[in-house]
Amino acid sequence: MEHLNKIEHLGIAVRSLEEGNALYTKLLGVPPYKEEAVESEGVRTSFFKAGPNKIELLEATNPNSPIAKFIEKRGEGLHHIAYAVDDIRAEMQRLSAAGFQLLNEEPKAGADNKWVCFLHPRTTGGTLIELCQDRG
Ligand code: ZN
Repeated sequence: MEHLNKIEHLGIAVRSLEEGNALYTKLLGVPPYKEEAVESEGVRTSFFKAGPNKIELLEATNPNSPIAKFIEKRGEGLHHIAYAVDDIRAEMQRLSAAGFQLLNEEPKAGADNKWVCFLHPRTTGGTLIELCQDRG
């Protein structure tokens, strides 16, 4: 079995979902296929498909949101790379044992019908990594 099967999507932090949607609709030539709030994470998201690729835009819904903090520190732009996995618990265990710091000990319900887990960028060479498994 493969581990991190493929890049599932790229997550991009934006100050305004409306402005981000307008920009990415112009860039990709297609409108978002979905908008979804994830209250537990303090984000509103939208998703685009461009060929085989998927882009997630993330806007903070409150000042304590990780997205608000990210934009404060680093500005808008690439926020995380998400990899598709078949068995998120097995991957969490494997990566934790390999020295990567998990940001959540249990898979969380993420946007777009996924179970997700994040790896701290401190342990991945500076890039926030998301694992995601279809919730089915
Ligand atoms: Zn994501």
